Amino acid sequence: MGISIMPDPAYLMTMRDGTIKQINPSTGTRVWTVPGRGSRPQTQTTGETRPVSDTDWTHGCAFCSARYLETPPEKARLIRNGDDWQTLEHVPAERLFDTVAEFRAVPNLFEIVSYNYWHDNYGYVLPAPIAAHKRAYLASDQGRRHVCAVQGAKMRLLGTPAEDIASLEQDQMLCHADGFFGGSHDVVIARRHWVDGARTTTDLASAGTLTPDEHEQYIRLTLHAMENLYTTNRYVRYVAAFQNWLKPAGASFDHLHKQLVAIDEHGANADQVLSRVRENLNFFNECGVNYASYHNLLVAENASAIAFAGFGHRYPAIEIYSKSAKVRPWEHSSEEVRDISDLMHAIHAATGPDVPCNEEWHHVPVDVDVPMPWRINIKWRVSTVAGFEGDTKIYINTISPHEVHESVTKRLYELRAAGAIADIRIADECSGAPNPLKYNPSLW
Ligand SMILES: [Zn+2]
Repeated sequence: MGISIMPDPAYLMTMRDGTIKQINPSTGTRVWTVPGRGSRPQTQTTGETRPVSDTDWTHGCAFCSARYLETPPEKARLIRNGDDWQTLEHVPAERLFDTVAEFRAVPNLFEIVSYNYWHDNYGYVLPAPIAAHKRAYLASDQGRRHVCAVQGAKMRLLGTPAEDIASLEQDQMLCHADGFFGGSHDVVIARRHWVDGARTTTDLASAGTLTPDEHEQYIRLTLHAMENLYTTNRYVRYVAAFQNWLKPAGASFDHLHKQLVAIDEHGANADQVLSRVRENLNFFNECGVNYASYHNLLVAENASAIAFAGFGHRYPAIEIYSKSAKVRPWEHSSEEVRDISDLMHAIHAATGPDVPCNEEWHHVPVDVDVPMPWRINIKWRVSTVAGFEGDTKIYINTISPHEVHESVTKRLYELRAAGAIADIRIADECSGAPNPLKYNPSLW
């Protein structure tokens, strides 16, 4: 048989005129960076800028701290006493304001995949512990009023006339409440809408403005919510986790939050990647981290995570990988979670709160028999050139991977010197040793 695999596949190729052609190793997406199109991410300025009022701090949006009753009944919250963090599960309605949630996990009011989807298609019903939680929550007057109010708000937003909602008895409202307890689309919400000491409404609290400790807890609660979605619904095959920051990136609120959506498929991306890994178990090392290292794209590293400027993405992207032998995110050790959180936090801090971005988590679907590392892409939603993609399926990305690398690492050095991020290795300080990702058992 002839040579079927090129020793150095052209995922990244610079032409003589400076055009950079990229191919995404996982998806095959073709991307060009054309010279002279400007290399700075465009920051997003919101239309309205005004001082943050006293009411804004607590009531700025439905995710703010005085509006706990506008989200469905809480699944879990993290509270803080100095350096001591504690998880409270299923806080009853009458206790919601007894503590301040640093982060809270709640069901999404409008689920992408609804409780009824699982109920009607699979016969899913609330598992006993969740049914008991629902009964306990609704046993109190305040709990019942809360759920009815949320149900009423949802119906109003869906266009039901107010008089029709008012005519419903409490029991009629509550009979649709299962989705508020056993739904499979969660939101993990941070406490702050604006940074401490914010002067104007543009001083938003992004992931990069949290402290490294706070960011770690944010990741922990997200992992907790992810594990729960898998364990409470046995029909779930994949839980998509993502964070849309600012409206151009698809966020409905400028208030930091992540979303988790359980689905009954792997998703197209996971299936595509799966076929690559079946061909080459070491795919994520060879075509990801090693390749990035040989092309001087490593951005940051610590004991159990590594990040590089991604190639073959429609938007400028930084890819962050767990080096752990564990493939399920929620089975990572405390140190491993801290390490990947530190890199995510550093990349968000280097990106800056003004740049709209998507954070996409990827992990191996629970019913898949080959290992894949936990990995996260952070994509800057800067403007792209339109009009060319439809014909050719070639996308134009205005910032090259090397420009992403340069701007992020420059900022990381400054942030590290200022003590604003954890102590991580940056750029040339990364080890560069081949095959750092230990998901592949052949490397053990
Ligand atoms: Zn808010």
